[in-house]
Amino acid sequence: MMGDLRDLYQEVIFDHNRNPRNFHVMENANRTVEGFNPLCGDRLTLYLNIQDGIIRDASFQGSGCAISTASVSLMTEMVKGKSEADARRMFDIFHKITTGKDDNVKLEELGKLQVLAGVREYPARVKCATLAWHTLDAAIRNQEKSVSTE
Ligand code: ZN
Repeated sequence: MMGDLRDLYQEVIFDHNRNPRNFHVMENANRTVEGFNPLCGDRLTLYLNIQDGIIRDASFQGSGCAISTASVSLMTEMVKGKSEADARRMFDIFHKITTGKDDNVKLEELGKLQVLAGVREYPARVKCATLAWHTLDAAIRNQEKSVSTE
């Protein structure tokens, strides 16, 4: 069963890496933040259109490894239409799951992000998966124009 799940998760990561969702510059973005993971060389630019506390649109550009690309692709899909508070809560859950600090977090709450929970078995890849979310967090806080995982 776990083997099947792992295969499914890998298939989702491959799919999002091959065909990243929301992979384009956003002309009407009102938040733009660059994220960089020096450990792996992952770079991305996250674009958000936030109105009245709701993330109306999310897109990205950049280049990185399969895990970082799949993570930001999945993330842009998930946060569209969500409130800033919901997005921050998802960031919090995702962070706990990928760092393995809280085993009480229910995987079901993560939806599709479950596919990335497996990275906690590979500590060197955790920052690849969390880069998108740190960038999102910075975009929501709207204080800095770039973030680095180091
Ligand atoms: Zn990476």
